[in-house]
Amino acid sequence: MVLVYAESPNGQFKKTAFEAVTYGKKLAEISGDSCVAITLGTQAGNAGELGRYGASRVVNIPDEKLNQLDSQSAAAVLAAAAQQLAAKVIVLCHTSTGKSIAGRLAVRLQAGLVSGVNELPEINGTAFHVKKSVFSGKAYAEYAISSPVKVLSLVGNAVRAESGGTAVPVESLSLPVPAGRVRVKAVKTVEGRVPLPEADLVVSAGRGMKDPGNWGIVEELADALGASTACSRPVADSDWRPHHEHVGQTGIAIRPNLYIAIGISGAIQHLAGVNNSKVIVVINKDPEAPFFQAADYGVIGDLFEVLPRLTAAVRKFKSSN
Ligand SMILES: Cc1cc2nc3c(=O)[nH]c(=O)nc-3n(C[C@H](O)[C@H](O)[C@H](O)COP(=O)(O)OP(=O)(O)OC[C@H]3O[C@@H](n4cnc5c(N)ncnc54)[C@H](O)[C@@H]3O)c2cc1C
Repeated sequence: MVLVYAESPNGQFKKTAFEAVTYGKKLAEISGDSCVAITLGTQAGNAGELGRYGASRVVNIPDEKLNQLDSQSAAAVLAAAAQQLAAKVIVLCHTSTGKSIAGRLAVRLQAGLVSGVNELPEINGTAFHVKKSVFSGKAYAEYAISSPVKVLSLVGNAVRAESGGTAVPVESLSLPVPAGRVRVKAVKTVEGRVPLPEADLVVSAGRGMKDPGNWGIVEELADALGASTACSRPVADSDWRPHHEHVGQTGIAIRPNLYIAIGISGAIQHLAGVNNSKVIVVINKDPEAPFFQAADYGVIGDLFEVLPRLTAAVRKFKSSN
């Protein structure tokens, strides 16, 4: 059986949870198994909806202690649930929460772990091979897992969430939750725009903006598109923008459908976090800027002239549709 842990921060399932269940369903199909989704805590209200994405059963462990993001307690109960349900593969989202649970879970289950997979495995008898991208997205590595139980974390946007099924009743599973050694004192969430790992549209800017006071035109384009905002590392390091917007090798890795890079040179460390975007648009006044090599569309021009015109064009297009 394939067990998928569907995260529900603040009682809401994110897109990554639906993607993980879709992936789990497809994995179950090729391994001739069933796909069971599991949720933790008392807030996963609409968990039955996971059935629409391919879970044949949805199981919830309704303990208030699991409402907080304590990966030690979560790993302990997920391991107990996986053993009780006889799961052979456990799929998690490759989010900060999923990543912090996956290693602990694998140790508890004596399972082989591949962290950050982006394709379905190839299964042939007992051979189980799965790919993940390495070297900042420049190559794929194929991993073979030989342990009886396997743990995989799935990167966001690797598969499209497919909702062809029907909702199922949620079964309650009672398991002891060990007292956590982690005490969550406060949870701060970013308000306003969609968090970057979830965003489909991202407008990002770099040092070409010259001054933090110039960011209004970036925000305006993002507002017109309904996009999230990101930035290059030197911009965050200079406190021009908050650190949670920093994308790249040392920042967040994203895979939106559209990434617009404004006044960003396209250094390899920046590309490492964005080169899996579906469509990349680059706006830069230097025709030799390396980012143009990775771009699907490029505008060679002064961003201070291009951006207001682009924003006006987006607004006009949206108002006429
Ligand atoms: C170990 C390590 C890790 C790193 N990790 C990251 C990371 O995670 N993310 C990251 O972003 N960087 C990272 N860096 C830094 C990276 O190497 C680059 O220095 C950085 O990405 C450059 O930022 P930038 O493109 O905003 O600035 P710049 O390189 O200064 O580029 C500014 C660009 O703006 C253009 N421009 C200027 N004025 C205008 C205008 N008026 N109109 C249009 N275009 C204009 C210029 O032509 C230029 O291409 C890392 C570096 C190291 C060594």
